[in-house]
Amino acid sequence: MKILVINCGSSSLKYQLIDMQGEKVLCKGNCERIGIPGSKITHKTSDGYQIEMDCAFKNHTDAFTKLVDLMTKGDGAVIENISEVNAIGHRVAHGADMFPHSCLVDEAVVAKIDSLSEIAPLHNPAHIQGIRAAQRIFGDIPQAVVFDTSFHHSMPSKAYMFAIPYNYYKQYHIRRYGFHGTSHRYVSKTCAKLMERPIEGLKIITCHLGNGSSITAVDGGRSVDTTMGFTPTGGLMMGTRSGDLDPSLVTYIAEKTGLHGNEFLRTFNERSGLLGVSAISSDARDIENAAELGNENAALALNMLCYQIKKYIGGFAAAMGGVDAIVFTGGIGENSSTVRENVCANMEYLGVKIDLEKNKTRGDVIDLTAPGATVKTYVIATNEELMIARDTLALCGGVPAPAVEKAATKKK
Ligand code: ADP
Repeated sequence: MKILVINCGSSSLKYQLIDMQGEKVLCKGNCERIGIPGSKITHKTSDGYQIEMDCAFKNHTDAFTKLVDLMTKGDGAVIENISEVNAIGHRVAHGADMFPHSCLVDEAVVAKIDSLSEIAPLHNPAHIQGIRAAQRIFGDIPQAVVFDTSFHHSMPSKAYMFAIPYNYYKQYHIRRYGFHGTSHRYVSKTCAKLMERPIEGLKIITCHLGNGSSITAVDGGRSVDTTMGFTPTGGLMMGTRSGDLDPSLVTYIAEKTGLHGNEFLRTFNERSGLLGVSAISSDARDIENAAELGNENAALALNMLCYQIKKYIGGFAAAMGGVDAIVFTGGIGENSSTVRENVCANMEYLGVKIDLEKNKTRGDVIDLTAPGATVKTYVIATNEELMIARDTLALCGGVPAPAVEKAATKKK
């Protein structure tokens, strides 16, 4: 069974075609600048073929047409015919409290996703465009939707409520939803496999650290708390996002600077975080390099990030009454030995100690745990696309092949 995984943004469409027999990625690619001059597609196959070409994409349907063309014809072909694609799985950013699980697409599901566009204006309308375009190109093959928010449905009310008038929750559904759920779910499951213990008996803290970052407390395989909030701006400081703030800052900054309305959103979403503090870059690599060369603001931004991660780990360990494993994932979590070393320093009191030599190595799965530590620490490369494909397969009645489980066991 071959599943096409789609992640649509307002001007982009990322795709992966996965053969579920062995969970092999046959090809993947990215259509960029859809509806904007300069649109292009990048297409790569598992046997090393790669092409980047300019294409005029007026809309997501144009992008779909081109990627189907590349997948089925010429040197980038991995299937002979579009009919070999059995199902499509879409990533959807916001399912709010409407979608506790992934589900198959029908008109009622599309209407619900659409109704959430008000709280996810950059994401949900784009996902619907992706679903509609897929329907136009692929006809009525099964399509599934997998939500970034679903994994966090298990949070108790004490974790998801904000301490503001209760009516805002009742009337406007204002609460913590949490995001990156597909990633937290994937790495926590993989962590349990690596530990060869049932996830039901484990307390795991998963740190997804990328341009967008969030940390989740996973108790018994269920998210019980997470750092992101009503929107993905909350929680930890990120590349350009502020993370949690004192709400009174808004009126104070408005009085001092005249900033208002959407300008605040842009400031806290696009000009804050690592970029805001360092005034250099939102990219952790640039920040690490600048800090090493003596830039004080870059060093401050890096210190703030590591401190916040450490603080949330301590908080979530306390919230769960202990922790058995900590997982680092995402671009920073998987690649930055500096961030991991700083975060895990002086955590022996909690049973956390990492092997600094292993911490310098690279790989999709690394056990960083130093001898004597009672808490396991892992790097686990996330794979949201595979999780989406597995959910889609399960919804279509198939049983996912445990390729990752095998890979994880082999590496041990
Ligand atoms: P997104 O949230 O957009 O998916 P990623 O998960 O790809 O982002 O993470 C991007 C971040 O990962 C950037 O801040 C980048 O600097 C960081 N990163 C990637 N490689 C390294 C590295 N070798 N060392 C430090 N940070 C890295």
